Amino acid sequence: MKPSLVKPSLVAALERIVGPRWIRHRRAELKTYTMDGLPTRESFPGLVVMPASSAEIRDILRLLHLVGVPFVARGAGTGLSGGAVADPDAVLIALTRMNRILTVDPVLRRAVLQPGVVNARLSEAVAPLGLHYVPDPSSQAACTVGGNVAENAGGPHCLKYGVTTNHIVQLEVVLPDASVVQLGSLQGDPWGPDLVGLFVGSEGMFGIVTEITVRLEPVPPSVRTMLADFPTVRGASEAVSGVIAAGIVPAALEMMDRACVAAVEASIYAAGYPTDAAAVLLVELDGQPDAVDGEAATVESILRQAGARQVRSATSPADRARLWQGRKKAFGAMGRIAPDLAVQDAVVPRSALPDVMDRIEEIRTRHRLSISNVFHAGDGNLHPNISFDRRDPDVTHRVHLACREIMAACVAAGGSITGEHGVGSDKIDYMPWIFDPETLGAMRAVRCAFDPAERSNPGKVVPLHACREWRAAPGVR
Ligand SMILES: Cc1cc2nc3c(=O)[nH]c(=O)nc-3n(C[C@H](O)[C@H](O)[C@H](O)COP(=O)(O)OP(=O)(O)OC[C@H]3O[C@@H](n4cnc5c(N)ncnc54)[C@H](O)[C@@H]3O)c2cc1C
Repeated sequence: MKPSLVKPSLVAALERIVGPRWIRHRRAELKTYTMDGLPTRESFPGLVVMPASSAEIRDILRLLHLVGVPFVARGAGTGLSGGAVADPDAVLIALTRMNRILTVDPVLRRAVLQPGVVNARLSEAVAPLGLHYVPDPSSQAACTVGGNVAENAGGPHCLKYGVTTNHIVQLEVVLPDASVVQLGSLQGDPWGPDLVGLFVGSEGMFGIVTEITVRLEPVPPSVRTMLADFPTVRGASEAVSGVIAAGIVPAALEMMDRACVAAVEASIYAAGYPTDAAAVLLVELDGQPDAVDGEAATVESILRQAGARQVRSATSPADRARLWQGRKKAFGAMGRIAPDLAVQDAVVPRSALPDVMDRIEEIRTRHRLSISNVFHAGDGNLHPNISFDRRDPDVTHRVHLACREIMAACVAAGGSITGEHGVGSDKIDYMPWIFDPETLGAMRAVRCAFDPAERSNPGKVVPLHACREWRAAPGVR
């Protein structure tokens, strides 16, 4: 066994920076950090350090630069692609102590925050000002804005308003050599290349974001949330295309299939969804009251033409919150089905949704698995979720096969291997399915501009194999 790079002298030096209370290095303590939200990747980090400030992060990275030790940033660990998992030679830098909103400017509609602020806390904090932070991943009660920046997170309301990258103004970043850079500009678009856009979605490969300036948006004056139930998944999929084709961009357009509805309705998150429907759509419209009323009438008639049996609108804010709770806690509700849940994430053109859904059903049946689908249908962003028990090697093997086949089917339909959960370590082998060697080489060169020694979140996103080894999987273009 090769000796670990994480030596007792490094532990002592890190203790001097953050204090002994904020280091974890015993095996039992490290167990908590061996996984993120993906149950199929597990690794013990060398140690965990919990800084309280940008200055401490700079000191930690300076030390790790001197001794040549790799590191991985971690927010809440809700990531679904194995991105926040470190191997025993790496230091995991947990950012949950950096959870302060530093300033809020209601006139400019900006907030400056530390990376460990939990997404939902931000909107709660600015609600009294009539403002909110738009990107709302379903994990928003737990995930951090720093993790959202690294993953370019989406969420139900990103269909109309855009994903994280559209809501970030400025970033303070500590690079792997411990230099501190400011990306973007408070005044507006900066001159030169869009380095904020480059950093957002870089999955921790370029360094650690230590301060984030976000855009805040006014809470819309009127909101209508509608629930439609369909006797077929195909009908619901066609309704999604129909709404968008009519020129209406709902704030959110979400689909849940029968298995997902059954899991939600059997849980404490029960939302009153019809359990006999093959699929339900949750459609939210927002804007000025007259416009919302007009769009709601058009949407309702499109949903009915596509075969909806029933279309109902939330009757009160509490009713609306209940409809959304069922959707946002759907992954949690699936925890009742089996001990483990492999949440998949891919994108397909909206027009391909019905065929891809049929293909997923075929894969599910052939591999004898339990798959529930809940997804951002308006974006064509699919989440087929496989409930299983990873203590059973046979079922785990079939889960791996099914995940790979689902991804291949999405790519073959003209889609991509991730919509919003990133590549991480989970999908790194699929990158050559969608990018040619030259493009992957360019990505690697960009990474090296920030991190020449590739010590920041090593082994994630960009494959290291020699170009000639990159091949498309059978059945994939
Ligand atoms: C139930 C559930 C529902 C979800 N729903 C959605 C959804 O609707 N939309 C969506 O997009 N995602 C969703 N996710 C996935 C996940 O919540 C997001 O990817 C989220 O952005 C991860 O945030 P985190 O704080 O947990 O980050 P982590 O999981 O801790 O880390 C994610 C990645 O970010 C890097 N990172 C973290 N902090 C920093 C930092 N400060 N600087 C640099 N790199 C950093 C890590 O190294 C890692 O690569 C869901 C997850 C769960 C469990």
